[in-house]
Amino acid sequence: MVSRVIPVDPFDLVIFGGTGDLARRKILPGLFRRFCSGQMSSESKIIGAARGVHTAEEFSKIVASAIHEFGSSDAIDESVLAEFLTRLDYVAVDARGDTGWTELAGKIRKNLVNAFYFSVGPSLFGDLAERLKRFEMADDDSRIVVEKPFGRDLATAKALNASLAKHFDETQIYRIDHYLGKETVQNLMAVRFGNMLFEPLWNSQYIDHIQITVAETVGVGGRGEYYDRSGAMRDMVQNHLMQLLCLIAMEPPAKFEPDAVRDEKLKVIRALEPVLPHHIVRGQYGPSEDDDDFRTHVEDSSSKTESFIAMKMAISNWRWAGTPFYLRTGKRLKARTSEITVVFKDAPHSIFGADAGRHNNELRIRLQPNEGMTLDVTIKEPGPGGMRLVDVPLDMAFADALGDNAIDAPDAYERLIMDVIRGNQTLFMRGDEVEAAWAWTDPIIEGWQARGEVPKTYDSGSEGPTDAMAMIARDGRIWREIKR
Ligand code: NAD
Repeated sequence: MVSRVIPVDPFDLVIFGGTGDLARRKILPGLFRRFCSGQMSSESKIIGAARGVHTAEEFSKIVASAIHEFGSSDAIDESVLAEFLTRLDYVAVDARGDTGWTELAGKIRKNLVNAFYFSVGPSLFGDLAERLKRFEMADDDSRIVVEKPFGRDLATAKALNASLAKHFDETQIYRIDHYLGKETVQNLMAVRFGNMLFEPLWNSQYIDHIQITVAETVGVGGRGEYYDRSGAMRDMVQNHLMQLLCLIAMEPPAKFEPDAVRDEKLKVIRALEPVLPHHIVRGQYGPSEDDDDFRTHVEDSSSKTESFIAMKMAISNWRWAGTPFYLRTGKRLKARTSEITVVFKDAPHSIFGADAGRHNNELRIRLQPNEGMTLDVTIKEPGPGGMRLVDVPLDMAFADALGDNAIDAPDAYERLIMDVIRGNQTLFMRGDEVEAAWAWTDPIIEGWQARGEVPKTYDSGSEGPTDAMAMIARDGRIWREIKR
């Protein structure tokens, strides 16, 4: 199958924080890949803008070494890289002062698509937005891209939204949740709404429960201080897991268009029931052979921040009343995996008698690693042993089915940046969506604080605290094993 690369219009992209970790690890190597594929034309320009004083040549060197370090695993074509580097420029600016802004404004070509990526801490978003307008760099067609974390609660998210809304219309603001840029996450919508097979069964009449697991093997490492102020709830659940839940649970939008999709996602968030305290388990990882425990990585040696969370959620609407959603995410777990499991109900009556055992269908959607889908189907156990049943997987690894196309698919950041240039907001969070997610999250966190709750310690390399197993076991269900 031949991959179709549709070039985007020529653009000028300014990356505020262009020398930072995110820019070096994701944004710039991603743009280089889009350049190699022909999607980014050689008329386009990328301007790094950050506090450090560098010449354009020095910035080129920073970018070249970032591409060598974090770019594709394939050999880099040095002549293409040299061509890409000619598309770079750099201006030292201070987001809080006026240095550099006039020079930067002079470099933007107004006849092209203009985008401004705020790859800096959220405390600078308002300053950047204000200066973009004051120095007449941005107009009504310009786009701004903002990174997570988008607030740490409803009040701060509202303040951030307001500081951007003063200068930019909602249609110009692209709030990144890179999970939405993942190939398989978009496949959730293709699978649900592109096939007749699943949607008629996609409700509480046929689905017993749904599990969403995002497990990491890494610990907090050098990000301890940031993480200690955040925790799994703010860092993962409020954004990434919530977005996955929305795509799994939402009603079919009338069209695959930004507001149609985001309206449906918002309805899911607004239909979420408050979570009862005994439907949440928080955990904190203990030491392992090659790493210290969570608390050694943070300043506060009695930190109550969770590095693991498991919860049971309910969506109060006609489609989902009675079908629980179990969400789980954590660091230092047994394997790195992101998976959604849709567990269908047992057949209402078994014609095969008690000996055949109980069987049900499960649809597993793997986001990473080995993106793909597996559907467990019940068949007859082969052999002369009578009518015994067995579940077999219909397994589809997208890389096998789609060949190089699946492997060469752009990574989440590259795809999302190309969407910004195209002016397509479908895979970006709208301001009201983010606020609704915080409005649901805030009382949960406030409850922990009010009760002084301490997370349960769990062994590094395990599947999380045993209380998480007990929570789902009380409902007569079990978690899917965390494995690669
Ligand atoms: P970083 O500290 O590595 O880089 C920050 C960049 O901002 C640097 O280029 C610095 O020069 C610039 N900067 C800081 N203050 C400035 C000022 N006053 N004026 C102009 N430029 C200034 O940070 P990072 O890890 O690249 O993160 C950037 C943003 O992206 C943060 O909001 C972070 O939460 C978010 N984010 C980062 C990652 C990641 O993997 N690093 C992942 C998701 C989200």
